[in-house]
Amino acid sequence: MAGVETEAGERLTADVVLAAEGVRSRGRRLVLGFEDRPQPSGYAVFRTWFGAEELLRNEKTRHLVEKGDSHTGWIGEDVHFLAAAIKGGKEMSWVCTHKDEGSIEESWQFPGKIEDVLRVVEGWDPVVVELVKLTPPERLFDYKLVFRDPLPTFISPQARTALIGDAAHPFLPTSIQGASQAMEDGVVLAACLDKAGKGKVQEAVRVWERIRYARVHKIQQTGVATREQWHKADWDAIWKDPESMHLKREAWILDFDAEADAYARYDAAREELENENGVRS
Ligand SMILES: Cc1cc2nc3c(=O)[nH]c(=O)nc-3n(C[C@H](O)[C@H](O)[C@H](O)COP(=O)(O)OP(=O)(O)OC[C@H]3O[C@@H](n4cnc5c(N)ncnc54)[C@H](O)[C@@H]3O)c2cc1C
Repeated sequence: MAGVETEAGERLTADVVLAAEGVRSRGRRLVLGFEDRPQPSGYAVFRTWFGAEELLRNEKTRHLVEKGDSHTGWIGEDVHFLAAAIKGGKEMSWVCTHKDEGSIEESWQFPGKIEDVLRVVEGWDPVVVELVKLTPPERLFDYKLVFRDPLPTFISPQARTALIGDAAHPFLPTSIQGASQAMEDGVVLAACLDKAGKGKVQEAVRVWERIRYARVHKIQQTGVATREQWHKADWDAIWKDPESMHLKREAWILDFDAEADAYARYDAAREELENENGVRS
């Protein structure tokens, strides 16, 4: 049996405990048996989300919101800026990934300063500069991007606790896959539990890890590749082939039925594990 004890002292038991508490997971230490330290990725993100009324009134920014949802990107040396009009153009969300020299011991998220963003985008397209100036200061955050080496495992030795989502594999935003992969984790685990049946929960958890491990780490790497593609852009190559800077929408990531794949691969993955270690159920 697996279990948790709540802060109020209530003890709950289950066949398996899923630690889905995000990038600062406490379950990670329980599963790994040691404290896993995040490393600075070298970058931080200014991020914000606010009502778009002022943008609509301003001639430089109106076009970003007046036709409903839109997505616009600007890239510079070691920085990129993405602006997304959402909710039919009624709200604006933008992120600006920039170099971060701070230490990992600092707070992970703290209020951002408009003047700091303006320094980063100095001399850029006036649309970006205006967008930053029209951002309500109290809605701006500077969010440190941390990176973790792939964990050696997502599951406890007895396969009674499993890390899922960002707790197991935090993604850089440039992968645009963190939430998707957290959902794939859940879908695949559900399929594995269904396939194994009630009496074989530990087997299901082990097979789940086997199915997920390589795929999530391969997708994690795309976050680094996309950031480098934008931040260290080869402008001569881009002028020759502008589409080369487009975000790669790779079929092996997006056109993938994680649920069907889990059902299809379950038996083979279980056999692999049996041959290697013996699967305990
Ligand atoms: C700037 C930025 C942009 C991003 N853009 C995208 C994108 O476009 N597409 C995409 O797919 N992904 C994106 N991501 C990544 C995505 O946000 C995460 O990968 C995703 O939210 C992970 O989901 P999760 O459920 O594992 O963790 P979280 O969303 O972090 O959820 C964990 C939850 O657990 C709760 N919790 C924590 N500790 C405890 C505890 N002890 N007890 C109970 N509850 C607890 C937290 O409050 C939280 O609600 C982006 C991330 C960043 C930083």
